[in-house]
Amino acid sequence: MNTNDSSLVIVVSGPGGVGKSTIVEKLVQRDERLWLSRSWTTREQRPGEASDAYKFVSRREFEDNIAANGFLEWTDFLGNLYGTPTPRPPAGKDTVLEIEVDGAQQVKRLNASALLLFVLPPSRQEQKARLRGRGDADQKVEKRLRKAEEEEPVGKAIADYVIINDDLESTLEEMSRIIAYERKQRTSS
Ligand code: ADP
Ligand code: 5GP
Repeated sequence: MNTNDSSLVIVVSGPGGVGKSTIVEKLVQRDERLWLSRSWTTREQRPGEASDAYKFVSRREFEDNIAANGFLEWTDFLGNLYGTPTPRPPAGKDTVLEIEVDGAQQVKRLNASALLLFVLPPSRQEQKARLRGRGDADQKVEKRLRKAEEEEPVGKAIADYVIINDDLESTLEEMSRIIAYERKQRTSS
């Protein structure tokens, strides 16, 4: 997985509702060298969610793809399966994966040079407000907040950079600066 060239694998991880999807969507719009991997999931599409946010599949289809060795990584997150299909970025592009912490750990094990950007909310209260604002049901909000308590220490321990997503524009600038720096490092080494 992109180990023999200077292209980057950028993993954006962090607890639910912190803003990962929003961030990666904007980064990819602004930087044409970035290629966003589209994950598979067995969860249902949320009301108002884009139909291409994921490849929405049945559990059977997902399990068939596991059996066919079709995932770089996959995990069970709060009862649904999520997975990154084997990435095939166009030549010269850097791959972006937006995944939870268990998947980030798997990717790091497979490719130690993958760049892990771990995003945190300014506070648990703000994370809750963002999950609610997105339309998550109360029970899902509580589950995601509890899961965040487990995910954060692991994410911080394996991250190359930890970013607090307070003001969105500042976060995007910070992440763009990190990516530019890491590209430079890799072409000069
Ligand atoms: P994730 O992918 O991490 O679960 P989302 O990208 O779905 O999170 O963001 C959750 C909600 O928070 C969305 O409604 C999004 O518009 C909002 N959001 C994202 N970043 C910020 C920010 N910096 N400030 C305020 N709201 C934000
Ligand atoms: P959501 O249901 O909010 O879209 O996603 C739940 C969690 O699964 C989020 O933390 C999201 O980043 C993560 N996720 C999305 N796609 C993948 C994937 O392909 N692999 C893994 N491991 N996690 C994913």
